[in-house]
Amino acid sequence: MKKAIYPGSFDPITNGHIDIINRASALFDKLIIAVASNKSKESLLSKNERVEILRDSLSKNSKVEIDSFEGLLVDYAKKKNIFTIVRGLRTLSDFEYEFRMAIMNRNLDKSIETIFLMTDEKYSHISSSSIKEVYTLGGDISPFVPKPVVRNLNKIDDEKNNK
Ligand code: ADP
Repeated sequence: MKKAIYPGSFDPITNGHIDIINRASALFDKLIIAVASNKSKESLLSKNERVEILRDSLSKNSKVEIDSFEGLLVDYAKKKNIFTIVRGLRTLSDFEYEFRMAIMNRNLDKSIETIFLMTDEKYSHISSSSIKEVYTLGGDISPFVPKPVVRNLNKIDDEKNNK
């Protein structure tokens, strides 16, 4: 069975991530979407909320499993016994960051292989950080994210307002 891990913050998941997940699902028998608790980034959603939204968004894809991890990705990969990492590329500027990270992961564990999938150009302008910005400023993010993102963000807002 060919397995891979697609790690990321997914804060929130976007149509660009979905595109990479669909491409990776065509190549692997099992794809673990691993939500990282990213302490260096200001997050919009908690890790549990991100996991919940991913489950809602990907319930129809039987090859996908949603999980989360703390600490180093290489340690998580070892624990899972999966040594292929999938990452997405949008632009040249992604490349430098991704290249550095792939080399670092390889230095930490030489059995780790990172493969890169290129997004459809129609998603190349979408990033979680721009979605966060548009959302916090009151803009409509629905064209750029799967439906459960909007539904859950509205629910979270309602809960906050009722407190
Ligand atoms: P991280 O904080 O680990 O970079 P992200 O959730 O922002 O996590 O992204 C996870 C992966 O998905 C990264 O490889 C990133 O380059 C890729 N990615 C993000 N947005 C897109 C997109 N619109 N199209 C293709 N890949 C994307």
